[in-house]
Amino acid sequence: MARIGVYVCHCGTNIAGTVDVAAVRDFAAALPGVVVARDYQYMCSDPGQDLMRKDITQMGLDRVVVASCSPRMHEPTFRRALEGAGLNGYLLEMANIREHVSWVTAGVAAATRKAKALVAGAVRRVALHQPLEERYADVTPQALVVGGGIAGIEAALKIADGGFRVHLVEKEPSIGGQMAKLDKTFPTLDCSACILTPKMVAVAQHPNIVLHTYSEVERVDGFVGNFRVTIRHKARSVDMQKCTGCGTCWSKCPYTAPSEFDEGLGKRKLIYIPFPQAVPNKPVIDRERCVKFRSGKCGACQKLCPTGAIDFTQQDELVEESFGAIIVATGYSLLDPGRGPWGYGRYPNVLTALQLERMINASGPTGGHVQVQDGGTPRAVAILHCIGSRDQNYHEYCSNVCCMYSLKLAHLVKEKTGAEVYNFYIDIRAFGKAYEEFYNRVQNEGVYFIRGKGAEVGSRDGRLLVRCEDTLLGKYREVPVDMVVLSPAMEARPDASHLSQVFGIQRSADGFFLEAHAKLEPLKTATDGVFIAGACQGPKDIPYSVAQGAGAAAEVLRLLSAGRVTISPVVAQVAAEICSGCRACLPICPYNAVSYDEVTKVARVNEALCKGCGTCVAACPSGALSVSHFRTPQVLAQIEEVLAV
Ligand SMILES: Cc1cc2nc3c(=O)[nH]c(=O)nc-3n(C[C@H](O)[C@H](O)[C@H](O)COP(=O)(O)OP(=O)(O)OC[C@H]3O[C@@H](n4cnc5c(N)ncnc54)[C@H](O)[C@@H]3O)c2cc1C
Ligand code: SF4
Ligand code: SF4
Repeated sequence: MARIGVYVCHCGTNIAGTVDVAAVRDFAAALPGVVVARDYQYMCSDPGQDLMRKDITQMGLDRVVVASCSPRMHEPTFRRALEGAGLNGYLLEMANIREHVSWVTAGVAAATRKAKALVAGAVRRVALHQPLEERYADVTPQALVVGGGIAGIEAALKIADGGFRVHLVEKEPSIGGQMAKLDKTFPTLDCSACILTPKMVAVAQHPNIVLHTYSEVERVDGFVGNFRVTIRHKARSVDMQKCTGCGTCWSKCPYTAPSEFDEGLGKRKLIYIPFPQAVPNKPVIDRERCVKFRSGKCGACQKLCPTGAIDFTQQDELVEESFGAIIVATGYSLLDPGRGPWGYGRYPNVLTALQLERMINASGPTGGHVQVQDGGTPRAVAILHCIGSRDQNYHEYCSNVCCMYSLKLAHLVKEKTGAEVYNFYIDIRAFGKAYEEFYNRVQNEGVYFIRGKGAEVGSRDGRLLVRCEDTLLGKYREVPVDMVVLSPAMEARPDASHLSQVFGIQRSADGFFLEAHAKLEPLKTATDGVFIAGACQGPKDIPYSVAQGAGAAAEVLRLLSAGRVTISPVVAQVAAEICSGCRACLPICPYNAVSYDEVTKVARVNEALCKGCGTCVAACPSGALSVSHFRTPQVLAQIEEVLAV
């Protein structure tokens, strides 16, 4: 017969305010196998744990039930307490009488009865527990960072400075992300390139960083500590070893295309570097447009390259590497405002905020001049906040940084042109350090603020017309201007769904990557060893993205320096003699932990990937799967007992 101790926690008044803990304690004391039952103010406190440890050693307990909060909170605490007294940590069962009872049940009588039922179920189940042993796997001592924006750059540098090798994979020909396109940054107005490019150069020069630009992750296998990753190096048509970045090719290429970096406002050559400070400072050929690729003619760059670096026959290359941990920092896209009533794509003087950033920038398409299409200086400029954010028709969420970058752009336009600047806003969200002060500064500079969403942009007499309902004046207004700047919502990248499958990351309803816990695990994901940082998790500004990059790096350094990972013993197991090989369990596992063994013709569980969620157990028509600690007789006994109270 098992010798069970039951400990009922008050959790201050969290539980004791609704549940009669003394009654639950007395009820538990009378259950079969229970040797001792106690209640205590805070079981998770040191004295609470001491109580348990003393009983285990002095009374010879071999099983423990703690009736308290969710096991997600304190299961590790109580497991360690058991181990401290020499008992296997898995001979513990928790009855959640806080989240499942006191916080959700009205009336002391009903709550106490429910708590008794849960305790009775836990006591029945713990009697059937078996001791389980954790196992360990070695960790490959290098990390992968995907996305070379400011979040990924910060993460890579921190890991590399910590002494570990890190591979940084960037989809575009250069690292830098969206920050590289910005002119000045709010609220301090420091030049974006001046603070970003030293970090980009540091990445290129760091002996611990391997940079893969113009590359994408194709496939991820394995598990925390031991990921096997396939990276595709897209063909640049330029031999990176031979190229010296002299610039002859891109200055001599006779053809141009709209520059993605200048948001379509300027032109680039068909062999190009995206921007002057690009890292690496070596070009790439736009194969879709290159005349040589399309018609076999031209080839000017090849003829003129002094080092013979142009290689039109170059193919994509697949590289395989092993990593202990992965950080995904793939950033954001901007909502396409052409979908809305704001005249974007219809009127040439309606721009996005990112286009204006490029126009203001000295190395941008107009050399830093804010100008309308005919080259003149605008006399009046409207900046429309909340384009596609806080809007049921597009995104319900607040895009977080648009108020601040709109204020910044208002300041810069005023400074450069002296134009009248109108901000159309719902309300101003200047939430960060020195942000409200910056808002006040812009107001004092004479920028106008109209509280009302810019609902529509039309035109009259050659000028643009912004229509809105001014909610302060309580009247409909039409404001004539020469230029309209739209502040579109930051949104999840179009390939977020694909990436979520490659890396095993879940997504929230808004499409961004989902963290493991909104408050306590903001950088972890559902897959152990895969972390997220920056705007791929949701709209955020540069300081927040940098902080997340550094935080994710700390998580990775913790893993890599530990040298090994613990593998939970609570995993699914296949009874090979029962498995029919139907494979119903394979697609259902959310962690891709089940595979089919072609030799033995039965399903096989990768214990390092398995989270013990039990989904496969429910799906198996033959009853061949079970999860240790949650075996069918245990679960049935628990349910039977709960229903009997
Ligand atoms: C108009 C505008 C003005 C702004 N002004 C400011 C400002 O003044 N101050 C401020 O604090 N913030 C500002 N921001 C916000 C700022 O842009 C973001 O905070 C910052 O860029 C987020 O960095 P990130 O690294 O998370 O994402 P990103 O900058 O988006 O970088 C992500 C990187 O990942 C790469 N990538 C994407 N998918 C893949 C893939 N599958 N494989 C490999 N690589 C991939 C991308 O190419 C990119 O290089 C502004 C934003 C906008 C739109
Ligand atoms: S001309 Fe040759 S060496 Fe010079 S940048 Fe172009 S590819 Fe590189
Ligand atoms: S940050 Fe400001 S402008 Fe951007 S969506 Fe939120 S409220 Fe609108």
